[in-house]
Parts: sequence; structure tokens; C-alpha cells
Amino acid sequence: MADPVTDDVAEFRCTACGKCCLEGAGWLPLVEEDIARLEAQAPQVLKFVTWEGEPGARQGSLSSTIVTGRETTRCPFVRKRRGRAEYDCRIYEVRPQVCRRYPTSPEHALYTGCEGEFVTEDGDT
Ligand code: SF4
Ligand code: SF4
Repeated sequence: MADPVTDDVAEFRCTACGKCCLEGAGWLPLVEEDIARLEAQAPQVLKFVTWEGEPGARQGSLSSTIVTGRETTRCPFVRKRRGRAEYDCRIYEVRPQVCRRYPTSPEHALYTGCEGEFVTEDGDT
């Protein structure tokens, strides 16, 4: 595993284990950029947004709770690949920033149980 302090991390290899989308993904905080992207490219996803703050504040989280009424740790947009213990994101192109940045470091990956690998420019993991 790479050391983010001493190594130059060139790439992160996701194994598509789905853990980050199945656990702790019941509420995904949105930033302004996420909301603008959804409005422009995937307005159908906005029905999954629970708006927060003052009216018009454009703050919110992505969750299935507002649609189903049920609390869950699972993101509504994760999809299992047929016959495999692997998962895809159904809104990959417009996924929120919190997903784009995960995991933020090898320590973050280890702490949260991510199975992916950080690869340095010389190919080390
Ligand atoms: S939006 Fe996509 S990447 Fe983010 S938690 Fe949901 S399925 Fe995973
Ligand atoms: S937990 Fe890590 S390896 Fe698994 S799907 Fe998420 S980013 Fe990929």
C-alpha cells in the first residue's frame, strides 16, 4: 500500500466491490457543483434529493429515503453486476463529488474497508 506522504500516487484501482456504495451511502452530501450538474445532465435524479437549510439554499443530500420513506445504508444508484460480486454506479457520469473523491488516501481506504489499491507511478501498491 502506498504512503501518501512519501509516494507519488498516480492511480487508484477500484475493485468494484461496492462496499462504499452499499455501506454508509444512505445519505450523500451534495455540493453546489453536484446540484448544478444534476440539474443540467440528470434532472430525473433530483427527486432523490432531500433539501436542507433555508428555502433556495441549494443544499441537500442524495438519498432514497425521500422516495421510499425507509432509512438505508445503500445508495439508490448502486447496481450489482449479474452473477458477480461486483457493482456499478448507475449515475457514474453525474455522481456527486463525495463519490468522485473517495477514498481520499490509503488511510481513508483502510479505515473505511475499501479494497482498492493506490498505485504509484513506478507501479508499486
Ligand atoms: S452515486 Fe454512484 S458512486 Fe456514489 S454511492 Fe451511489 S452508486 Fe456509489
Ligand atoms: S470500496 Fe473501494 S474498491 Fe470497493 S467499490 Fe468502493 S472505491 Fe471501489
